[in-house]
Amino acid sequence: METLKGIPVSPGVMVGRVFVLDDPRRRVPRRTVAPAGVPAEHSRLDNALAQSVNEIAALAEQTSKDMGAEAAKIFAFHAGMLQDATLTRPMHAMIDKERVSAEYAAWVGFREAASRFAAMPDVFKTKVDDVRDLSLRVLRHLLGEQQSRLATLDHRAVVVARDLTPSQCAAFDRRHVIAFATDLGGKTSHTAIFARALGIPAVVGVPGLSDAASDGNDIIIDGDRGVVIISPDAPTLAEYTGYIEHRKTYELSLDELRGLPSVTRDGQPITILGNIEFPEEINAILEEGGEGVGLYRTEFLFLTGDHEPTEEDHFTAYKRAIDLLQGRILTIRTVDLGADKYTQERAENPERNPALGLRSIRYCLQSLPMFKRQLRAILRASAYGQVKVMFPLITSTNEFRQGKYILNDVMEDLYEEGIPFDMGIEVGMMVEVPSAALMADAFAREAAFFSIGTNDLVQYTLAVDRINERVANLYNPAHPAVIKLIKDTIRAARRHKIPVSVCGESAGEIDYDMLLIGLGLRTLSVTASSIPHVKRLVRSVTVAQCEQLARKACSLDSDLAVTAFLRDQVRKILPEAFDGRSAET
Ligand code: PEP
Ligand code: MG
Repeated sequence: METLKGIPVSPGVMVGRVFVLDDPRRRVPRRTVAPAGVPAEHSRLDNALAQSVNEIAALAEQTSKDMGAEAAKIFAFHAGMLQDATLTRPMHAMIDKERVSAEYAAWVGFREAASRFAAMPDVFKTKVDDVRDLSLRVLRHLLGEQQSRLATLDHRAVVVARDLTPSQCAAFDRRHVIAFATDLGGKTSHTAIFARALGIPAVVGVPGLSDAASDGNDIIIDGDRGVVIISPDAPTLAEYTGYIEHRKTYELSLDELRGLPSVTRDGQPITILGNIEFPEEINAILEEGGEGVGLYRTEFLFLTGDHEPTEEDHFTAYKRAIDLLQGRILTIRTVDLGADKYTQERAENPERNPALGLRSIRYCLQSLPMFKRQLRAILRASAYGQVKVMFPLITSTNEFRQGKYILNDVMEDLYEEGIPFDMGIEVGMMVEVPSAALMADAFAREAAFFSIGTNDLVQYTLAVDRINERVANLYNPAHPAVIKLIKDTIRAARRHKIPVSVCGESAGEIDYDMLLIGLGLRTLSVTASSIPHVKRLVRSVTVAQCEQLARKACSLDSDLAVTAFLRDQVRKILPEAFDGRSAET
């Protein structure tokens, strides 16, 4: 049994079997197979080598046609190398002697070949790149098999990977992937957000995980505490089975809240909206008692399809959301691509610092045809329901004005074409960078509403990468500086009488909600699965109690003190929301 600690990012506990998903660009972990599995590893390796040789032959033919026989010579070298026994024999020998997986043997074999070339005179050094290229090609075949095996999985599995992109996560088949855990990642990474949307337990930032786990191992994923247990012993399994029962009982008790309003004990309504990535999630939002959609992350249209969404793709998705909502509000955020979403995975020259790079509204303003396609679809959809639009990552009034200017342009086009849309559509903005929060007064004169995005606001205020597990201990929405920015934003919105909500992940955390209500927030937008928990909290407190708590929290000068204070208070008010295990997180 091996117990590893990570960051809990999506609640729930699952017991299952490991399915490993490796990454060909990174070190392949050493995994052994049972003696009976050795012949299969030999043929997997042979197949991957043969497929690569075939691909290279096709490339050689194409290159020869396009650029002449001389240019195609490099491929002859590549194909020759893959068929050279001095490269492949040690790989097969390793599988035999050490009973390792084909991918590990290939990875070691290529690495050793690259080192041999690197040690030779300069003229051979360029061969190092050729070997890397070949290694990637062969490993893609071996690891690509994993991706396709995952896509056609016919049993329930827990995915273990060094890292997962939001796109990989979006491709999961929910019937079969019951939980996942990764070596890398942070609490508000989009992969983590996606796990919550799927409602599957997940733990990220678990150092050494993908080295320790092998296909078929039994595993426990404790998404409440951030614990991963590989090959658990019988007493541990029994303990977790008991805990799963306890959780079910608490969740059943939340069911009673479904039909009840979200009001505090002293009668203040608190609107709970849902965050979605796909229109179908609206079913869960409404089932859990959500009153509409406060954040629709439309960039997920890009992450799942095999082509850039067309205007019709956008429109179909928005119209579907509107139909499902039956008159309730739909807040569509224009695409927030960049940083950990989409663009870097495809970029030839990835940015050095993508969180500070060409992302979100900046990317849209530089990709006008794409931006206009989306705006047209949003406006067309606005003829059918209550639609609001908001721009992400606004940092300056100019940027907001440019966004609005382009929206007006698109409105004029539609008007001229006689296509109906809501001419009075509300245009709001995310407040998720300190500059926007600090300038909230100026923005409140121009924006129809604010939606505070704590995920990015924490990242940019504290200079802590939201997806980097190494600094996860420093990523804290309870930091006094973050609280101050939220407080100032709420005040500015109130002064200018515009609605303000919070749609970052912290709105779904009950320790934090008392603080938000105490600071004056009356609308929260959260993942579907968090709605009943938030509603239970709302119905257990008074506004006066929350205001008192907020005053005290604002007087504290350290994030650790605020965190401890908030947790302490909410545990007193709602002890049953905690699992009865020790207070460790
Ligand atoms: C946020 O930053 O808080 C937010 C809601 O946006 P996203 O998580 O999609 O960046
Ligand atoms: Mg954001």
